[in-house]
Amino acid sequence: FGGGGGDGSTEITAGTAPGFPPFEMKQDGELVGFDIDLLEAVIDETDYTLAGWEEYEFKSLIPALTNENIDVVAAGMTINDERDQTIDFTDPYYSSNQAIVVREDGDFAPSSLSDLAGRPIGAQKGTTGETTVQDELISPGNLDESNYNSYGNYVLAVEDLQNGNIDAVVIDEPVAQTFAAQRPVTIAFTYETGENFGFGVRDGDDEFTQALNDGLSTVRDGSTYQDLTNKWFGQ
Ligand code: GLN
Repeated sequence: FGGGGGDGSTEITAGTAPGFPPFEMKQDGELVGFDIDLLEAVIDETDYTLAGWEEYEFKSLIPALTNENIDVVAAGMTINDERDQTIDFTDPYYSSNQAIVVREDGDFAPSSLSDLAGRPIGAQKGTTGETTVQDELISPGNLDESNYNSYGNYVLAVEDLQNGNIDAVVIDEPVAQTFAAQRPVTIAFTYETGENFGFGVRDGDDEFTQALNDGLSTVRDGSTYQDLTNKWFGQ
């Protein structure tokens, strides 16, 4: 952990990967989003102080955490067994499935993963969207590896979808909904994965993890969690 805060509390640094709206994105050069507001509200409930945010590509967040460049990850990160071997997670704070996003023009309207066979598709490096492509399409032999495009950021994947370089993007459903509201793309169908997002913490930082879990439950019990959901998901 970093140095002490002015009030004697421990300062921590948070890491995220903008380009995943509405969880984290840049707006007029500023980092904003549900994850940003939620983690800040949670930390406010603890004895820790947030020194600031560091931005990374999604795939670099876990290394940044284990190297102690950051102390907590807030990036719509799915809690799963593979990641649990390297890092720890707080309690879940949001649920998601995968969505298959296509151009709005309607030329290509897949309704199941097998309809993606032979099509150029994309996802973001190191994500569960990528794992879905690998496990459900490439491994069973329904999609040639050469048809899969791995992007450093989901914004680049969606831009490549819009300009016709790829025909579909596999991405978390709430983020797909946000892109669909802002760009000429639409959700063709969803693929149920039952994922849960948690904040990523270092293995062994048990006191900090407990503080975040307590803070999260306070934020959930009050109105803050609902207020932030309304603010960022318009519900
Ligand atoms: N929830 C997905 C994952 O954890 C995607 C997260 C992201 O792209 N920020 O892999």
